[in-house]
Amino acid sequence: MTEQRPARPDSSQHDLDPHLHRYAARTTGMTASEIRALFAVASRPEVVSLAGGMPNLAALPLDSLSTEIGNLIANEGLTALQYGSAQGVVALREQICEVMGLEGVSAHPDDVVVTVGSQMALDMVTRLFCDPGDVVLAEGPSYVGALGSFAAYQAQVVHVAMDDDGLQPEALRAAIESCRKSGQRIKFLYTIPNFHNPAGVTLSIERRAEIVEICRSAGILIIEDNPYGMLGFDGQVYPALRTLDPENVIYLGSFSKTFAAGLRVGWALAPHAVREKLVLAAESATLCPPTFNQLVVSRYLATHDWQGNIKQFCRNYAERRDAMLRALEQYLPEGCSWTRPAGGFFVWLTVPEGVDTKAMLPRAVTARVAYASGTGFYADDFGSRQMRLSYCYPTPERITEGVRRLAGVLESELELYETFGPTARREISGPQSPSPDTA
Ligand code: PMP
Repeated sequence: MTEQRPARPDSSQHDLDPHLHRYAARTTGMTASEIRALFAVASRPEVVSLAGGMPNLAALPLDSLSTEIGNLIANEGLTALQYGSAQGVVALREQICEVMGLEGVSAHPDDVVVTVGSQMALDMVTRLFCDPGDVVLAEGPSYVGALGSFAAYQAQVVHVAMDDDGLQPEALRAAIESCRKSGQRIKFLYTIPNFHNPAGVTLSIERRAEIVEICRSAGILIIEDNPYGMLGFDGQVYPALRTLDPENVIYLGSFSKTFAAGLRVGWALAPHAVREKLVLAAESATLCPPTFNQLVVSRYLATHDWQGNIKQFCRNYAERRDAMLRALEQYLPEGCSWTRPAGGFFVWLTVPEGVDTKAMLPRAVTARVAYASGTGFYADDFGSRQMRLSYCYPTPERITEGVRRLAGVLESELELYETFGPTARREISGPQSPSPDTA
């Protein structure tokens, strides 16, 4: 007997969601990431996607990994496929301490909580600390996944300006003062000090102590999100903020960019008291992180030249970064400016007045290039003259071609603006579409 598949609900049914009255109030903050919505279109082979943040895994030693994973099942299968501790596998937590040691962090495995990617750690710290209306200070722009977690718990994001040296201490002081004056309760500063997503900048060594001191004296916790710290192209590893004030910093790390994002293994290193609460939060979310995946990471760290592999990742990324910077220099119209990342995945581009990057995106996709428009990286709709360009995934040749196409689209937007002024696009543009990717 052949079973009939139920018909897929059409979008008009979807719009009239019959469950609407049932959702919890907090779900009003949950909206699809702008970045995800055009993913399907941007993934078509003819489109050069500078939108995504997918790590480039080409340098992973798949043959030896598959042998290692086979051995894991053969020798430790009954443990690897079983539930484990809510805090994570002890051996892996010890290895995580060694990894963080490279950034000067001295930590005890008892204070590490393994999570399902650092995204889960972000969700948990927000759940632990934020009541609706509480303020989270975050760089402007900031990581879209973190903004999603803050919105899901109805926290209010106050952005703090950055420049080429990262978060500006003066802007941080001003933001704290202004929140305090208006009676708002600040819960923490969320910061990505190294090779920022999406801005591509790194917090200078000089500023690190100052930022930590401002937060310490204002009684504001710091969430240091550091998935890209090991991906510096000049081999420079920056000291973690955590080294400067271990009791006031929760450090989030991840193997997504240094090994394999698909395994979903990250961690939080928290002051001892907070660690207890994190474990309870983790337990209620997932019971325990996946034992198998943790053991794969642990075996990989123990048996492979993982630091050598990261160097190879960095060579691949640096080659792509160079291709992107060269192409931007060569093709982009006057009036554009962009950051010059020393590591990580992203360039942050500012375009001249008259271009709205969100409105332009469908036209860019028609011209077979995609990017992530800037507004997705702000909680307050700022960013319409910015976009994130990622160079991590496409080949250098595709990157060059993508930037060439993008330049063409920008040129025609600017031409229209110069000819017809600010109303030009309002008259001819169709519905605005959001932009692609997740990471
Ligand atoms: N933080 C930042 C700044 C990121 O860019 C990402 C992913 N792109 C994450 C956290 C989450 O990474 P994961 O959950 O894969 O560890």
